[in-house]
Amino acid sequence: MTTLHILDDHLEAYSLGRLAAAATAPAEEHLLGCADCRDRLARWDEYIRAMRAACRTFCDGPLRRAAGLSQD
Ligand SMILES: [Zn+2]
Repeated sequence: MTTLHILDDHLEAYSLGRLAAAATAPAEEHLLGCADCRDRLARWDEYIRAMRAACRTFCDGPLRRAAGLSQD
């Protein structure tokens, strides 16, 4: 039997809090019973945290200097 898992696009959107309301409940129900998707969601969470941290570092430093913005 083939198990249908949550699409990566949906896991990414869920991690960002942007998954459509109609898709959120079925996704959460699936996550309760699927360790594979919970692991994949954890990796998305980690990736998004890392990207946000990198963006903060970049936007607060080199980009602001390159744009001639103050460092306050
Ligand atoms: Zn799954």
